[in-house]
Amino acid sequence: MNNRYVIANWKMNLSLNESVQLAKKINIRLMKEIWRRQVVICPDFLSLSSLSLAFSKSKLNLGAQNVFWQEQGSYTGEVSIKNLNQLNVNTIILGHSERRTILKESSEMINKKLKLVLKYNLNPIVCIGENKEIRDKGRERSFLKKQLKETLIDIRLKKNQEIIIAYEPIWAIGTGKNMPAKEVKNMLNYIKEEIANLYNKNIANEKFVFIYGGSVDTSNIKSLAKYSDIQGVLVGGASLKLNSFIKICKNILE
Ligand code: PEP
Repeated sequence: MNNRYVIANWKMNLSLNESVQLAKKINIRLMKEIWRRQVVICPDFLSLSSLSLAFSKSKLNLGAQNVFWQEQGSYTGEVSIKNLNQLNVNTIILGHSERRTILKESSEMINKKLKLVLKYNLNPIVCIGENKEIRDKGRERSFLKKQLKETLIDIRLKKNQEIIIAYEPIWAIGTGKNMPAKEVKNMLNYIKEEIANLYNKNIANEKFVFIYGGSVDTSNIKSLAKYSDIQGVLVGGASLKLNSFIKICKNILE
């Protein structure tokens, strides 16, 4: 089985000082765990530089919450992959639903970003997921199929590259309404089948990793961890609390 992952998405929740303090504490708590290489911390952009220093000797991974699709140039307010690379960021979240909905990012934009992330040999986490309205109409599968197809157009993976697909139903993000573990497993299996249709079964098995996000916390992590098809979790709110986050990591990675 591919490695499992725990991704912490701190969004825009912490001050610079709070980010550094939390990162240092996580670092100390995970120092001796061999699975710490499977943990990725994604702070806001302004904290990356300080966290890069804090993590310089540990094996914790540093991730970014977004990137622009051009390498450099006149793109006011955008974030350069070259600079992320220099800060030892090795993982990038693409297409988080908050960016898709609030910032109007399209699958076409995410596709361009994905190509650049792979060109730089960084690890992409591609987020997909339906909103409540789509789920209420029972159209989540066709919606996810379309999102996957559009996001993965012309994406080819080189040796040693993989894509993490984070299935994050929008109605479950930050709401406390998490999806039952068995249903998460079924949805991830469906997504894997669709990837196999777009590529083939071998590629779906070996080059893609399927994780879940949406109100993951200490109360539901055990049931999610039981299913080997759930290859990790993307955690928002609960990743901001030291003890909860460590517990989540232990439950799914140990
Ligand atoms: C997220 O930010 O992607 C997320 C899943 O948040 P939360 O865990 O708070 O639902």
